[in-house]
Amino acid sequence: MPLSEKIFCKIGTTRIYKNRCLAWNQDRKCLVCDEVCPYNAVTFIAVKEKKNRVPVVEPDKCSGCGYCETHCPVNGEKAIVVEIFGEVRLSKGSYKKEAKNRNPRLKLRKAPADNERAAEEIPPGFDFSK
Ligand code: SF4
Ligand code: SF4
Repeated sequence: MPLSEKIFCKIGTTRIYKNRCLAWNQDRKCLVCDEVCPYNAVTFIAVKEKKNRVPVVEPDKCSGCGYCETHCPVNGEKAIVVEIFGEVRLSKGSYKKEAKNRNPRLKLRKAPADNERAAEEIPPGFDFSK
């Protein structure tokens, strides 16, 4: 599958397990899942009883790529996990076109060109320059 199709191939959706999450469970400042998500699918929100913001996933923006799960710093079972729901399976046709109908907000975020972290912003398999 060419990269231009692959990035729209939604293979699942992330779920946050609050009982394991450093932000939700321990009120610690952790932004890792938001920082690494190539689709900007994780948002941090303020909730009344917490000092620090906590993560929520916008399911229609999540491709199920698993980058957040890989980088979540929790030991053992991660606090953010890709699960098999919301996935799109096509036997023919274009994932890009299908995403326009089913998940129009599924978009790869652009790495900032002038940022020294730019090279790390987009995971290797998503880098169009290579
Ligand atoms: S990276 Fe893991 S521990 Fe940190 S906020 Fe996200 S889900 Fe919670
Ligand atoms: S699975 Fe991928 S797209 Fe979904 S929240 Fe995690 S990093 Fe973002």
